[in-house]
Amino acid sequence: MKSFDGMRLENTQEALQAVVSHHLRYSLGRDWKMATIREIYWAISLAVRDRLFDRLFETEKRYQQGGVKRVYYLSMEFLMGRALGNNLCNLKLFDSFKQAMEEMGVDLEEVRECTADAALGNGGLGRLAACFLDSLATLGIPGYGYGINYEFGHFKQEFSHGYQRETSDNWLKRGNPWQIARPDEACLVPLFGRILHTHDRKGDYSPMWLDWEMVVGVPFDMPIVGYGGETVNTLRLFSAKSSEEFDVEIFNDGDYHEAVKNKISSENISKVLYPSDSFRAGRLLRLVQEYFFVACSIRDIATIFLRSYDNFDLFPSKVAIQLNDTHPALAISELMRFLVDEHALPWERAWSITERTFGYTNHTLLPEALEKWPVSLMEYVAPRHLQIIYEINRRFLEQITVRWPGDEALVRNVSIIEEGDEKQVRMSHLAMVGSHSVNGVAALHTELLKSHLLPDFYKLWPKKFNNKTNGVTPRRWLLKANPGLSDLITETIGDGWIRDLRKLKALEAYAEDAGFLEGLMAVKRANKERLATLIKRDAHVTVDPDTLFDVHAKRIHEYKRQLLKALHVAHQFLQIIDDGKYPEVPRTYIFAGKAAPGYKVAKQIIKLINNVAAVVNAHPKAREYVRVAFVPDYRVTVAEKIIPGADVSEQISTAGTEASGTGNMKFAMNGALTVGTCDGANIEIMNEVGRENIFIFGHDVEGIRALREGREYNPWDLYENDPAVKRILDAFSGDLFCPVEPGLFRWVFEHLLYGRDIYYHVADLPSYLSVQEDVDRCFLDTSTWAGHVVRNIANTGTFSSDRTILEYARDIWGVGPAL
Ligand SMILES: *Cc1c(COP(=O)(O)O)cnc(C)c1O
Repeated sequence: MKSFDGMRLENTQEALQAVVSHHLRYSLGRDWKMATIREIYWAISLAVRDRLFDRLFETEKRYQQGGVKRVYYLSMEFLMGRALGNNLCNLKLFDSFKQAMEEMGVDLEEVRECTADAALGNGGLGRLAACFLDSLATLGIPGYGYGINYEFGHFKQEFSHGYQRETSDNWLKRGNPWQIARPDEACLVPLFGRILHTHDRKGDYSPMWLDWEMVVGVPFDMPIVGYGGETVNTLRLFSAKSSEEFDVEIFNDGDYHEAVKNKISSENISKVLYPSDSFRAGRLLRLVQEYFFVACSIRDIATIFLRSYDNFDLFPSKVAIQLNDTHPALAISELMRFLVDEHALPWERAWSITERTFGYTNHTLLPEALEKWPVSLMEYVAPRHLQIIYEINRRFLEQITVRWPGDEALVRNVSIIEEGDEKQVRMSHLAMVGSHSVNGVAALHTELLKSHLLPDFYKLWPKKFNNKTNGVTPRRWLLKANPGLSDLITETIGDGWIRDLRKLKALEAYAEDAGFLEGLMAVKRANKERLATLIKRDAHVTVDPDTLFDVHAKRIHEYKRQLLKALHVAHQFLQIIDDGKYPEVPRTYIFAGKAAPGYKVAKQIIKLINNVAAVVNAHPKAREYVRVAFVPDYRVTVAEKIIPGADVSEQISTAGTEASGTGNMKFAMNGALTVGTCDGANIEIMNEVGRENIFIFGHDVEGIRALREGREYNPWDLYENDPAVKRILDAFSGDLFCPVEPGLFRWVFEHLLYGRDIYYHVADLPSYLSVQEDVDRCFLDTSTWAGHVVRNIANTGTFSSDRTILEYARDIWGVGPAL
């Protein structure tokens, strides 16, 4: 057979046109005249995909020859967005394709608009995983994403009478040209069943896992191309399929199965993404998803390893596995089971391999987000794994007792099993014990991990702890999302910034260059027009691009304090209608974000913002100065249009609650000025751009702690003594924003004044109102404002996910670029 090694497709205009026509004709069976826009999208995508595969084979050959160590990034979420434009950008083929298609009468933008986002994630955590894949490939690091191929991604958000309504996201309905099914590499995963305690011929304990159900995990591969196209890695997502032919007769002892409701049929396992962000899902199906995912992943990783090596002692030097939060932490018990049960390794040897292989990234300090699973549920889903977790815990606690004899409180605190009415498995402790590294995602977050979340573990293993401040990929979030700004930057300092974002520093020299500032503001103005069009189309609000665009876009969560932003909008409105005080800077307030369907307060906040918008936008006096728009269905594609059009970026979480944030980085990179608290990566943004180029307000972590622990904080005092605070809260206790639904927002008043206000909205309100006045003053002087914008953009170099990935590679994985 002829070898196609070293073959690479051409990229001339003629070649591109020919291959698109070829795919339309022979892959899709259509001729040009009949083709729909979606078929053209498919034909173009297949043409691009061909080019990706050439480079994927080259990449794999390079990795093989180098005998490289491979990194597996395990994440329940990958918030990828659209693929076509990004792939074209990274292949540096965007312009030639655009032109080639134009000549054939096809508008590439229109083609891109007809496709759904790959929304296999909730928010920041899933988007981080997507940015990391881009950086791994751009840096030439052998890094693979592993996840679940949800049939339904994140729900679509609509508003009905101001309330959020969820509809399903059937993103695979029309197939997906970027995914290749690999049924020949399917894995078999046993689920449920029971353990029979037996012994082997030598008399050693040898448990048997019986009466399981078998599920098949079919991998779907998506090529991930780095910038420049030299490296193409893959994202491997598993779909669950049933396997009747492998099903054994299930132990069907009436009571046993009756006891557990909503029994799951295997096809449902990968059906839908859980839409809860920073909140424990706590459902049987979710645990099954997590187990299915890691069982497939470990089998697959081991299979790849065994193709090249036969000695498991080499495993940690050839494989690094990173756990994106605790959702995949069962991988630790799965690797132990694989080594001990299937390959008969002694426990100690298997444990040493496991510990050296895993790294764990913590993403949250919020207690409601820390994963715990009832022991009974774990035993039902994966009985052998529970047994292994108990053995891991027994040995771990033995170590503790040797080092700190008699300290029972310590043993209770660090145990993987939480005692109580219902025993639970603490997934963060399992991840901590089974990994050689645990990292937080911003400097402050890592310090709080050490001092507050896991202090006993820090005492035990200080060297395991390290910080890896998050980053975002400048390819999607600057080069592709903001072509106007990208071109301006490249014309000014060259294009080195695309691979080395620190080069943006050279822009600082232009902070007072009138010509550059003018160009910069013209780009911003054009982006605001583009955003105004989106707002008109999706939120049905007409907005003026000459006003200040003040944006709060992220998941709706009490700790992110969209409510605080709404209080500020109400304040401006009240100043106009009560005091006749018109703001010098007219503003457009832009909100976007989804609430978890079961999160009642978050859904109330959406309704509240929509009502405030309706009242303000309809008010004859106010509407000239204040306009409010809630853009529905926030997702990557929408973020790519909102962020470049923002003047002000709202990053106003209660200090100590936002682990890092990545939205904050995207906005600053795109020339918005941050209004923010001393929280997460805001602090690092402040340190990079300079205190005079950012608007910081509110209590810091120590301040919040003092309020929480002291006796003196009482939101009533502020209410009584600050007339602005009183007026705002009274407006919600009355019916100003709900004239036809009396009493609807009384909860705000009660929540903030009687409900202890655990996110300290009222405590930070005066300082928030005051900093917003600083924003107005600054915005009035266009060249001063533009100077701040330049100093922001110029100093966001460190927030490239390339920097983050190089730190993971050096400190945790022990890998480097394989170029
Ligand atoms: C970046 C991003 C997020 C994360 O935003 P934060 O402000 O860090 O919470 C969420 N959703 C989408 C679509 C994003 O692009």
